[in-house]
Amino acid sequence: MQKYIEAGRIAARVREEVNRLVKPGVRLIEICEFVEKRIEELGGKPAFPCNISINDIAAHYTPLIGDENTVPEGSVVKVDVGVHVDGYIADTAITISLDPKWDPLLEAVREALEKALESVKPGARFAETGRVIGDTIRRYGFKPIVNLSGHSLARYRVHAGESIPNTYDLFSRGKYQAGKAYAIEPFGTTGEGLVYEGDIVGIYSLIRPNLKRRLDEKQKRILNTIRERYHTLPFAERWLRDSLEDVDELRRILRKLTRMGYLAKYPILVERRRGIVAQFEHTVVITNDGEVIVTTL
Ligand code: MN
Ligand code: MN
Repeated sequence: MQKYIEAGRIAARVREEVNRLVKPGVRLIEICEFVEKRIEELGGKPAFPCNISINDIAAHYTPLIGDENTVPEGSVVKVDVGVHVDGYIADTAITISLDPKWDPLLEAVREALEKALESVKPGARFAETGRVIGDTIRRYGFKPIVNLSGHSLARYRVHAGESIPNTYDLFSRGKYQAGKAYAIEPFGTTGEGLVYEGDIVGIYSLIRPNLKRRLDEKQKRILNTIRERYHTLPFAERWLRDSLEDVDELRRILRKLTRMGYLAKYPILVERRRGIVAQFEHTVVITNDGEVIVTTL
């Protein structure tokens, strides 16, 4: 519990600091490197690469090596921050709108998260959280993204197996249990409410460390680096910049290790009708007395 609270405190502080950094023209890599460096300065470690997803990209964008992209004028910017302390993870996200015309969308999702958090109680159904999120976002005239969801968290595992839906789901049978942690993360959009996987991949994780396949020396070295530094937590391609001089070769090796089954890739998630997307997220730990939101300040 102490480690969750510590991770949450760091995540909340970094989230508030990065809020002030998001301005048109600022390089995305500068924002993400700030997030990841600040987490370490405050005594945590990144639980996954800083995600900075703009406009119709809902999630999983992290700058690539050599990425010169900047924050566009008038855009909607989601920053998703993950911190772990000894493997205990806090996961939190905010949306920043650089054009007031998107404020109602942000308000809808902010309110959906607030109401969703009230539904989180030991023994309560995940389906109830989904209902509250979906109803709130629709009441504002937007769509919840129904193929993205909140999730249980476990030590060194960002997605620990259970999903908390973002709309009412008849088949969601799960209930909140004391002693567990959950990330609640409504997404709302001006589009259709569905995301698909795009072509850009900047995030991977080691999923089968014990697979025995024939690897060459470079592949073996990269795989060992990943295992030692990140365990099974997600990492960014750019975090391996120091491990191989040739960036194209590094990318080829990551793709090859993915095809072999060692790694999972996390492509960017794009709204199907290119709608603007907003997201807010908090991590909640359920104690025996009720619940503690660890990523509020
Ligand atoms: Mn997140
Ligand atoms: Mn999450």
